[in-house]
Amino acid sequence: MDTSIAFISDTQLLTECNKIPNIKNRAYLVDDLIRTYNLYDHMNVFKVEPVSYDDLIQFHSSSYINYFKQLNDHEYSLIETENEYGIGYDCPVLENIWKFVTFIAGASVTAAKLLTTMKYNYAINWCGGWHHAQRDSAEGFCYVNDIVLAIETLRNYFGRVLYIDLDVHHGNGVEYAYMTTDRVLTLSFHQFEPGFYPTSGSLNDIGIDKGKFYSVNVPLKEGITNESYISLFKKISSMVYCSYKPNCIVVQCGADSLIGDPIGGFNLTPKAYVDCIKTVISWQKPVLFLGGGGYNLPNVARCWTCLTAVIAKQENKLPADIPDCKYFSSYGPDFTLNISPGNRKDYNDTGYLNKIIKTIENNMKMIQN
Ligand SMILES: [Zn+2]
Repeated sequence: MDTSIAFISDTQLLTECNKIPNIKNRAYLVDDLIRTYNLYDHMNVFKVEPVSYDDLIQFHSSSYINYFKQLNDHEYSLIETENEYGIGYDCPVLENIWKFVTFIAGASVTAAKLLTTMKYNYAINWCGGWHHAQRDSAEGFCYVNDIVLAIETLRNYFGRVLYIDLDVHHGNGVEYAYMTTDRVLTLSFHQFEPGFYPTSGSLNDIGIDKGKFYSVNVPLKEGITNESYISLFKKISSMVYCSYKPNCIVVQCGADSLIGDPIGGFNLTPKAYVDCIKTVISWQKPVLFLGGGGYNLPNVARCWTCLTAVIAKQENKLPADIPDCKYFSSYGPDFTLNISPGNRKDYNDTGYLNKIIKTIENNMKMIQN
């Protein structure tokens, strides 16, 4: 299969992404680093087609979407306490929020539509991946669930879609959207400890009714290393792939599982993400790659640049020292593309990891046909 990539990027999308609290300038850093490494030359770049009201209510409730419309149409005063739609606290009202939601969702839906043309093997939208948004409320910096809307687009064309979530947080919004159906299998690797947001995604959360065994959760403890994570990912994702036999895959590459993230507690470097997506690429199916969390902004740019290079088969051509670029000063003190692992204690012992593998292995036998 030749590498042909649809990459979503436009200035308006970067502007909209920049409105999200906690990741100011992140989209600019990512775009600048990918550009600096000349990776745009190896991809087909597309602008966003914003989604419509009717597109948004394919997943979200009309009352929730009407709320955004009305916020845009009238002058609003800042909401100080979180309201019934989850707006306030970690999802504050954003300026021109209607434009924001139609662009954020539109970017992933545009990417999904490009995959359905069959002209591209891969589509990338690093400004997407907002996996916590629920049908009728915003949650955890996520206002609309671009992932579910993109999966719906893909599902209409490809049928079976496998969703893989590498963000340090449980992909709760996507899992809940498909919890009762066997039409999409969701697989989330995340930190799972008392009090760690969103506190869902235990090994026993496997979906319900027709969706039983089609939600797969890999709950990990603090400090997991590249070596354990990569080995676990290869084993589990291969079992899931062989049992479910998807026609298309969506990978949320939230970069808050990296060492040095101010929120996440894992000990991964970009190598872990690279090896995971190489496994996915080896299946030779159409893949939609999305962003997600990641709050050490220069490390997110490093990671997604490495992933873009792997997808574009340019991995070995990137200079290890970051070339001069617009945000060069952000990459100090070492100014290198690589990140070194830290010496955080790993609380995931072999017995614990083997128990996860064994449980998922048994559950996957239940869906084999
Ligand atoms: Zn996250």
